[in-house]
Amino acid sequence: MGTQLTPHVAVIGGGCAGLAAAVALTRAGVKTTLLDSSHQLGGRARGIGWQGVTLDNGQHILLGAYVQSLKLLQTCGVDIDANILRLPLKLEIPGEFSLTGKQRLPAPLHILFGLLQAQGLTLGERLAAVRFMASLRFRQFRLPADMPLQQLLATQPPRLIAMLWEPLCLAALNTPLATASAQTFLNVLRDSFARRKSDSDLLLPRADLSILIAEPAARFIKVHGSEIRLNTPVESLRERPNGIQLKFKEASEDFSHVVVATSPFRVAALLQSLPGMKETVSRCEALDYQPIYTVYLQYSPEIRLPNPMCGLANQLGQWVFDRGQLYGQAGLVAVVISAEGRHQGLTQASLAINIHQELQIVFPILQTITPLWHKVVAEKRATFACIAGLQRPGQTTAHPHIWLAGDYVGTGDTLLDYPATIEGAVRSGFQAAKNIINSL
Ligand SMILES: Cc1cc2nc3c(=O)[nH]c(=O)nc-3n(C[C@H](O)[C@H](O)[C@H](O)COP(=O)(O)OP(=O)(O)OC[C@H]3O[C@@H](n4cnc5c(N)ncnc54)[C@H](O)[C@@H]3O)c2cc1C
Repeated sequence: MGTQLTPHVAVIGGGCAGLAAAVALTRAGVKTTLLDSSHQLGGRARGIGWQGVTLDNGQHILLGAYVQSLKLLQTCGVDIDANILRLPLKLEIPGEFSLTGKQRLPAPLHILFGLLQAQGLTLGERLAAVRFMASLRFRQFRLPADMPLQQLLATQPPRLIAMLWEPLCLAALNTPLATASAQTFLNVLRDSFARRKSDSDLLLPRADLSILIAEPAARFIKVHGSEIRLNTPVESLRERPNGIQLKFKEASEDFSHVVVATSPFRVAALLQSLPGMKETVSRCEALDYQPIYTVYLQYSPEIRLPNPMCGLANQLGQWVFDRGQLYGQAGLVAVVISAEGRHQGLTQASLAINIHQELQIVFPILQTITPLWHKVVAEKRATFACIAGLQRPGQTTAHPHIWLAGDYVGTGDTLLDYPATIEGAVRSGFQAAKNIINSL
């Protein structure tokens, strides 16, 4: 082995994981270069322009339990109160179901009493929900072995599953109940419902995701002396006597350490020519994916829905957001459809019409009007499928100076693994940075 390079870390990929890693490394005074193949940072959490309007590649929501995401935003100087609407837990499906956390009670009583008084369920269904949550808490949200969530819910009443558990599973894991990892779902329930009451708060962005996350992170990275290169796809990695070489289309460059923070389906091309990477590569290659569609419908500006966010039951659409109330985009409604389903068989125009008709049934204010325009953003590989028993790639690789970071990366402890979320990505990025800093 030749003389080691002065520490200079390459972070490949500027999504939430790569941004978190680059911010943490920069903050610790480690020279860092963040490279992204795209013309913009943010990866799967980014603002997009559409006919002069700023949308998101997907309507996102965060939770009070997203402690590391909030830490990232705070570090980067984001005014969280101005840019995020924090609402106490309220899950509402108009005319069907309503669950409100009891704000005067501490966690988890706020949820247990909320369930006991939930509207739209029979007493038997409410008691079944309370018993289920209480038994999970008694078991500290641990399962002896992972299983499909549907199996864990086998004794829950069908209406309770349809109104509560299935919408939560799709929102959190973006994976159908039949295959979703029960343990990962319980990890989210534990972190959101069983600790501090504020963990179950709904955090709704009031600015597009680029303004909220990527741009402040990029400013922090640059102001504190690190470098960002956009439009810079890394093609592969090579071992060098004193570090790791990144190969670009027409050039190459040596770094002391590398954080691979791309989507998992880009990992093989980067790592497969390095010795010992077979397991990392094959675990990445084995992941399956689930889509998320966001249907934007622009109504006339005076249209205002009863709440900034609510659910839909037994429809194609699952969650509805009034971007007028959140972003000042009057009359703009975003409807999210998580995971695979029959919506994928529709053209974008007919999907938009279907969703509009669904909204007309739920919101009388829309009954006599039509949207001025629509835009469907279909993220076909929005997240990895968070299925039961999944063998995730770990953060370490066969090379001691190459680390993985991303929402799909396993922590090595199934009780800590998160689904594909901003929080999972940020945690993973922070951890990769910590591992490097500790090794210097
Ligand atoms: C539509 C949609 C809705 C979602 N809703 C929510 C939500 O409500 N709440 C929530 O918490 N999460 C949500 N998520 C998930 C969340 O967005 C992701 O978990 C998170 O953004 C993933 O970040 P990441 O850094 O792991 O990966 P990515 O964001 O995929 O970042 C990878 C980056 O690597 C870059 N890259 C790839 N290959 C190369 C290469 N060879 N060289 C250089 N750069 C490369 C890419 O350009 C990209 O910027 C949603 C995702 C989608 C798509």
